[in-house]
Amino acid sequence: MSKPRLRFAPSPTGSLHIGGARTALFNWLWARKSGGTFVLRVEDTDVARNTRQSVEAIFNALKWLGLDWDEGPAHADDAAGGPHGPYFQSQRSALYREFAERLVRSGHAYRCYCTPEEEVEARRAEAARVGVEVDKLVGWTFVSPWRDKTAELDKPYAIKLKAHAPDSKELIQWKDLVLGTIKIPANSLRDEVLIRSSSPMPLYNFGCVVDDHTMGITHVIRGKDHVINTPTQILLYRALGAELPTFGHLPMLMKDQSTKLSKRDGAVGVDQYDSQGYLPDGLLSYLVRFGWSFGNEELFTKAKLVELFDWTRVSKSDGIYDFNKCRAINQKFIAKVATVDELATRVLPFLAKRGLAVRAGHPRLADAITTVKHRADTLAALADEMDFYFRAKPEVDESAAKQYFKPEFAAALDALAQFAEENVPTRDERSGAFADAKAPLDEALRKKLTDLALDMKVIGQPVRLALSGRIATPDLASMMLVLGPQVSALRLREAAARSRSATVENP
Ligand code: GLU
Repeated sequence: MSKPRLRFAPSPTGSLHIGGARTALFNWLWARKSGGTFVLRVEDTDVARNTRQSVEAIFNALKWLGLDWDEGPAHADDAAGGPHGPYFQSQRSALYREFAERLVRSGHAYRCYCTPEEEVEARRAEAARVGVEVDKLVGWTFVSPWRDKTAELDKPYAIKLKAHAPDSKELIQWKDLVLGTIKIPANSLRDEVLIRSSSPMPLYNFGCVVDDHTMGITHVIRGKDHVINTPTQILLYRALGAELPTFGHLPMLMKDQSTKLSKRDGAVGVDQYDSQGYLPDGLLSYLVRFGWSFGNEELFTKAKLVELFDWTRVSKSDGIYDFNKCRAINQKFIAKVATVDELATRVLPFLAKRGLAVRAGHPRLADAITTVKHRADTLAALADEMDFYFRAKPEVDESAAKQYFKPEFAAALDALAQFAEENVPTRDERSGAFADAKAPLDEALRKKLTDLALDMKVIGQPVRLALSGRIATPDLASMMLVLGPQVSALRLREAAARSRSATVENP
């Protein structure tokens, strides 16, 4: 059997929606799992709404998510993009025309010379005939007088699919990979326009089927909102004498039981998650739940998803999108799954946004991350938590300084400065893992506090504030280790001086 070929076919009218990203993920997963091919096709037939920025935003979002495509445009200006190109529908109109005319010749479609006004007029006449207002006319579809004619006029024409006869009793059915068997009465289908008289662009169902057919797509996996399109698409496959792909319709991302998630509800663009500092796999770990789960496991790298994914665990019920849950998963992902190396690379732009030009191999970077990664739900928060490690002087929380930099702590802060100089190993002196150096330092610090008759509960906050400028931080020994003996001592001495002078300022 030939290898599966799957595709993601976005319409470039905005940034990549998280629902679209979920759909792309499932297609990508099955392509990777089955050793198949993942195709990217851009359905840019809506000339009025499509933009180049959107094409770029979608490509960037897919790249950020790590959903790489095997075939399709490499970038927004790539006209070829692979063996079945072009992959922009706007560049394939000659092909659609050729297929449409072929369907006319085979009797599956017809040229309809009716103008839109004539259709409106026919509707009005029917409403008058049955005695209802036009917008109350239900269950009536326009039947073109050209349906069974073959005449060729010198007038613009639309090409329409000859769907089933209105009295057909047939059920169009398919076995959906996600939803199971679906049956739809053929007589509910209209004669859909394949290509309008006014534009060379195909309508969605036609362009989609011509492309899926000519691109050899074996699995059409998309959101459940497309179930209504599938019967017409099946008729088109039949009309073309083409083999049906396997269809799978994934559950929707909902705001609540009955409303689809929208922009008003929160971040729905993948680019927003990127700029807020989500990890791609953190976001994907949440998105994959809309259609697939693996027991109670919540955190998956893409490699793990490829390993575990199969269609038997796919679920069909729509899910309510919970922004807090998504963030909580990202937090766990940062704390437990992401490697320090990955975090080190990804956090740099977020440090840069804070004015901290930290370069990739900065000697403090990896250790700094180790001490704060369990405290951050995004990379932006991670950068915030790490901020004080990279400033010449930490930004001091002034209200905490008023509370904790007091004359009675000055001597202790000085003593701990000396402690830091004598006990904190430099990076060169350390060998082994961060934790191996931290345990003995912790021990030594406790002993020092006992020797100095200092209570950690009392002196802890002034020391914390001295080292970091903040009162919510990693433990003291961790901070000293990352800062090193000299910087730790310097900060403690400066805090001691400030505490001492507090007497003068606030006698
Ligand atoms: N362009 C369509 C969309 O963005 C694709 C639907 C499909 O996958 O067939 O919804």
